[in-house]
Amino acid sequence: MDYALMEKYDRFGEVGFNAGIFLKGSWKKQNDIYSKLQSEIVPAGKKTIVPKQTHGSNIVILGDSFGNDGIAADGVLCGNGDYCLTIKTADCIPVMLAERETGFFGAIHVGWRGLAGGIIENLYLSIKNLDMNFNRLYISLGPSIGSCCFELGGEVAVLFDDGFVTADNDRYFLDARGLIKEKLLSSGASKNKILDMAECTSCNAKKYYSFRRDGHAQIQMVSYIYKS
Ligand SMILES: [Zn+2]
Repeated sequence: MDYALMEKYDRFGEVGFNAGIFLKGSWKKQNDIYSKLQSEIVPAGKKTIVPKQTHGSNIVILGDSFGNDGIAADGVLCGNGDYCLTIKTADCIPVMLAERETGFFGAIHVGWRGLAGGIIENLYLSIKNLDMNFNRLYISLGPSIGSCCFELGGEVAVLFDDGFVTADNDRYFLDARGLIKEKLLSSGASKNKILDMAECTSCNAKKYYSFRRDGHAQIQMVSYIYKS
């Protein structure tokens, strides 16, 4: 099956950024997704940053240069307008953010491990360190598995606040996007600057890839953000 997805995250234009989610090609040929992204979306001259994601809770603040070993993190923040930040997801939540005043922007991959491990709390600390202001941030939550389909084992479900877990006999479902939004709001984010696409990857087979639905660990959707 060939996939083609090029969707914008709305409203980043208001703060001088461009962001979206991208997937193109056959799932057997995913290696070239970044070269397609670079040639079809990212303006010439910008360098596309591809972190090595670990399903962890580490947030890195990227300077103007970095080692050849790359960046091992599930979240990257930077203020360098020559960079395009990316994060890949399959059912996890891509969280993109930007602030006009400091020019900092970020791309975060939030899965249940990162969420339980404190990735949003780490984001809060990083943002404080950068003198960014949560209240001014524009934040998008991209397509990801919804509470309709995000089933967890009981041993994982207990890691999360009861208010975001629905129990159905011995089955447990996590409202991960709801929990992320709650954490962002309690960090000081502004409700009217959070854009939740609120689409379930697993329920939208025609539009999105879902690892839980489809298998094929090779395929991923890439969310990107860069300064316009
Ligand atoms: Zn669903």
